[in-house]
Amino acid sequence: MNRIVIWIALILINSLAVPAQNKLPESNLKKKEFEKHLRYLASDELMGRRTGSPGNDSAAAYIARYFESLGLQPASGTDRYFQKISFGNSAPPSMASFKIGEEQYTQSDNLMVLTGEATTINTNLIFAGHGLVDEKKGWDDYSDLDVSGKVVVVYPGTIESTDPQVIFEKMSLKRRLAEERGAVGIFELYRIPFPWGFFTSYFGRPSMMLLEKNSSKSPTITYGWIKESDLSIMNSLKEGAVELSISGSHSGSTFRQVYSQNVAAVLPGTDPELKEEFVILSAHYDHVGTGKDGGGYYSEQDSIFNGARDNAMGTVALMAAAKALSKQPPKRSVLFLALTGEEIGLLGSQYYVNNPLIPLDKCIFNINTDGAGYNDITKVSVIGFGRTGTDEEVTKGAESFGLGIIPNPVPQQNLYDRSDNVSFAKAGIPAINVSPGVSDFDEVITKNYHQVTDEADTVDFKYLLKYCQTVSLITRNIANSDTKPFWKPGDKYEAAGIQLYQK
Ligand SMILES: [Zn+2]
Repeated sequence: MNRIVIWIALILINSLAVPAQNKLPESNLKKKEFEKHLRYLASDELMGRRTGSPGNDSAAAYIARYFESLGLQPASGTDRYFQKISFGNSAPPSMASFKIGEEQYTQSDNLMVLTGEATTINTNLIFAGHGLVDEKKGWDDYSDLDVSGKVVVVYPGTIESTDPQVIFEKMSLKRRLAEERGAVGIFELYRIPFPWGFFTSYFGRPSMMLLEKNSSKSPTITYGWIKESDLSIMNSLKEGAVELSISGSHSGSTFRQVYSQNVAAVLPGTDPELKEEFVILSAHYDHVGTGKDGGGYYSEQDSIFNGARDNAMGTVALMAAAKALSKQPPKRSVLFLALTGEEIGLLGSQYYVNNPLIPLDKCIFNINTDGAGYNDITKVSVIGFGRTGTDEEVTKGAESFGLGIIPNPVPQQNLYDRSDNVSFAKAGIPAINVSPGVSDFDEVITKNYHQVTDEADTVDFKYLLKYCQTVSLITRNIANSDTKPFWKPGDKYEAAGIQLYQK
């Protein structure tokens, strides 16, 4: 053969050979291995991996050992991959009873004291608007008020918003402002369009909060909500027409410090310049625990919320990506971040963003993987699709393993703002959430979502493998991309991105 023929033959052989992606380590991931990891993480032994529980710690240790076995470096600032986080776990008083004016208020019935040391109160109520102070906006609901020794009554939310999220966000601030001014208690008036029963069952359970460095521990003044039967009483208080007395007591909220951890490993990139930039691949490994903590139906036969789909699947995908990417690293560096505290309010990611292990402005993208389950095993769902300039990398990653994309499913559920990706987005980092294929929140999803039935035995392991491969390849594609992702103009988080990267 002459040289030209050899050359043509070589081209033919190459073009007939298996497609390029089959040579990537993603193609060599084995179902058996990732089935094993999922079966462990979702096992009864781990008791639902609730943040702060021994099962949660066992999951973290398992992930850390896996990172170590792959030869990944612990992220600097961690203690052998662990970023330790302290949480406060508080439970409302079991007994509370107050007489306000002529009306009796009893815990759960029409009163929900959430926090405060056990106390007996005998004083007057004083109305303080929304109970907020904002110098920039010229608000001071406490101007001209002497609340010392009294119990403050306020409207929920702010003058601008009674959105539930705003109401909940302002709760601890209102408590602090009242406490700083010498009040002995503060009650918010339950004037929100949300069933009281849901409210009391949600807040009646023990709840967890982040204990940031320097934050004080348990609040001491009485804080809660009252549901009036006659709105005119508090309305007249607002006018200053009557002086309402309050007397009664409660048994005190309980407070306990617990610890958990994010697990973080770093894979350096191969490109001398691009390795300074990081892609964060994250997945929460915590779930909701057992019994009453789980928040759903349980029985004596089964009280463990195993969280196989939510989010052992995502955690296993993170582990699979760590394996495939470490075999053949991409140009940019990758931070593998297994997060705790998601189910108790995205607290692990919130803590991470407040205490980053790699400067946030060096992190160009976040792929979070978390899901409620799946009802379409021919696809993956991508929440945030179309928003960060990465659609091509994402689509190609899925197509390589025969999967299609469901862009932004179930918009009415506002899924983007309900997983850890939003913590990174709020900090300005372009972020998406990749989840197993969900087209709709139908009964296939709700049957297992946050239920004791979300067990390993019901997971489709062939699909799990494809899912792992897809998450890994999407991460690889973005870490190798010529263009840096950024928010589409006008995106909700574009301004935060401009600020973060000083664009
Ligand atoms: Zn989840």
